Amino acid sequence: MIKVDKVKIENLDTATTIYCDYENGGSSDRLWYEVSEDWSEYLSTDCGDAFFVVLVLLAHYQGQDISFTTPVSTRLYYGVTEILLPGLQVIDPELPAINITADTKDFSFKPTEIGTALSLGVDSFHAVASSFDTPYPVTHLTLFNSGAFGDYGGETSRALFHKTIESVNEAAIAMNLPLITIDSNISEVLNVSFVPTHSIRNLSFALLLPALFSHFYYASGYPVSKFKLDPSSIDATHYDLLIAKALCTESFEVMIAGLHDDRIDKVATIASFEPSTHYLNVCILADSNEFLDRSDTQVKNCSRCFKCVKTMVAMDALGVLDNYSEVFDLELYAAKRLEYLGWILYDAKKLKSTHAIETIQEGNKSSRFIPLQAYPYALSRGKRNLVSKLKRKIESK
Ligand SMILES: [Zn+2]
Repeated sequence: MIKVDKVKIENLDTATTIYCDYENGGSSDRLWYEVSEDWSEYLSTDCGDAFFVVLVLLAHYQGQDISFTTPVSTRLYYGVTEILLPGLQVIDPELPAINITADTKDFSFKPTEIGTALSLGVDSFHAVASSFDTPYPVTHLTLFNSGAFGDYGGETSRALFHKTIESVNEAAIAMNLPLITIDSNISEVLNVSFVPTHSIRNLSFALLLPALFSHFYYASGYPVSKFKLDPSSIDATHYDLLIAKALCTESFEVMIAGLHDDRIDKVATIASFEPSTHYLNVCILADSNEFLDRSDTQVKNCSRCFKCVKTMVAMDALGVLDNYSEVFDLELYAAKRLEYLGWILYDAKKLKSTHAIETIQEGNKSSRFIPLQAYPYALSRGKRNLVSKLKRKIESK
């Protein structure tokens, strides 16, 4: 049984920590969020919504019952118990059903602002840019230390979070939108991988400011045609729409951005959104990326890893790559273009990657996009993949 104490607040020099302690199997732990003092007036210690979502998820993974002291929004309690948990049960039928005890309340918050997270990737720039054509234009940008900088948290991922703030802050100033950054130990508390839990984690941060956000866009990585809820749905992106329906309150609604857009459509949309040409960052930031320059004070694209390459080739296919000379090394691209086109060709033909297929279709609209000289590179990529697959097989024996 997990017993969650009251939500409390502590004012530090320039920031505010909002936290709650909980007892779990005889040990006492704390879940905390740290918000800069500019935004502390929008926090609430009367409402336990953010803590409720995260600690119920913890209880679900540990198969434990849980009780809360601070009340939660009636609509959120309904969404978590009737929509979210039954959904997570479909994904992981082995985990036992849990009991949740919490008082519920309609808090009558009157928020008016519309938020989204800006990670500087294609999906997040698309969420901002496309919102301006809807009745709900983004008014506030956010960056959360939710696990995207390292699944299990810790100081390395916290350092990367702080480094990313620098770049995101510049982009926010260029867009003339306020940026709210929130640190937390959510990753240390949950101690589970990020991919199956990213939407729940990130939305808990948005729920932390109930007096600020009436709407919050979550950028979906896949269009809704890829919706899937079964034990093979390892990436929560497949069922973001279900999570959006679950994590609402009487005064807070989650919107999924890019519900009907393929990746290539998103790249086309952001290409006409000028801030993306200065600040787009799609690079793999993990240690596995050998090309990343870690000495730089800001996060930069390496122009060599697979994420950089597939984005550059998509921009090339759309005829917009020249707009991105500030964020990608276009001289390197020109020198390696045939090799990079070969990679995408291999991914389209052999791996049936949707993104690669869309890119080639887009490029072929005007003329033949992949020249014959790129084919040997596709073959050598195939060979390389085969060799590393065989190596892994031998090593695992
Ligand atoms: Zn890269």
